[in-house]
Amino acid sequence: MKHRRKQHPTVCDLGEFGLIRELRGIVGPSGNSVVRGIGDDCAVLRGGNPRKYLLYTCDPVVEGIHYRPADPPRQVGWKAMARNLSDIAAMGGVPRWAVVSIGLRSSTGARWVKELYAGLHAAAKAFGCQIVGGDTTHVRREQFVVVALVGEVERSRITLRSGAKVGDSILVTGTLGGSLRGKHLSFTPRIHEARWLVARFPVHAMIDLSDGLSSDLHRLAEASPRSIAFEIDAAEIPISRAARGNLAAALRDGEDFELLFTLDPRHVTALRRKWARRFRTELTEIGRVVKSKQKVALIQRDGSRQPLTAAGYDHFAVS
Ligand code: ADP
Ligand code: MG
Repeated sequence: MKHRRKQHPTVCDLGEFGLIRELRGIVGPSGNSVVRGIGDDCAVLRGGNPRKYLLYTCDPVVEGIHYRPADPPRQVGWKAMARNLSDIAAMGGVPRWAVVSIGLRSSTGARWVKELYAGLHAAAKAFGCQIVGGDTTHVRREQFVVVALVGEVERSRITLRSGAKVGDSILVTGTLGGSLRGKHLSFTPRIHEARWLVARFPVHAMIDLSDGLSSDLHRLAEASPRSIAFEIDAAEIPISRAARGNLAAALRDGEDFELLFTLDPRHVTALRRKWARRFRTELTEIGRVVKSKQKVALIQRDGSRQPLTAAGYDHFAVS
């Protein structure tokens, strides 16, 4: 049995990271029109406009995984659109067009679907995005909504996961942890914040926090040059009220949909001052980019340094 398992690993054996790496191998290298393929929050593509890139992303919500059957359909729709908008925000972009595929049981009330759509539309409209098509299919068991979204960003303003530089400060918007208690269905994608940021400050790297701070720091590290490492201070992590002072929850819980980014520390004072005048959302400096073999580390309150594992959400990890 053990032998068979070794020859034919399951998706759980590979983990989400490992699986995507193997899929990337199948797809192979990208063509000339692709600036970034697999590996960032959105694919980055050369479209017709020489001053802009197209951004392309796709994320599902599945019944029983991303929402419960009894959750309000309007919120489920909001979430399905907003998590895609959040990926556009992570690249510093503007969302433009979305297509929506839904899988419905035949017993589902038409009202439920209309409410779902009202939520999808509300989130899209709030950020200047239009739903322009999709597909509808029948399912026997769990329902799902998959949104694919196209956005745009000025070439000079794009923020990739891979741009962190040694010496950078690491900052995060909002507060972290406990999203399952409610925020995951009603969060605000940080489009406005990201657009404001990339227009004014030279952000080096950015990602949106979908799988938990620790896990997403590993995603940044994975996208960065080899010697680059990320070090965060336990005392500085902004823990949400929903996480009730639990640092582990702020590090591990997924679906915060906040922005994590790095920039030269000499900009931090001006950024914080201007940010406070413009937004109510918190902005916290939580650490720094260093040169180290240990890709992600946590500095405890007593000054000790410990490796931080990617203990966030892995879709195929055993719980
Ligand atoms: P996000 O959480 O921002 O949506 P992930 O970190 O989960 O992105 O995904 C990392 C990268 O892997 C992304 O570039 C995404 O497009 C890619 N990816 C994930 N699943 C697949 C898949 N099934 N096929 C191709 N690419 C995928
Ligand atoms: Mg993302």
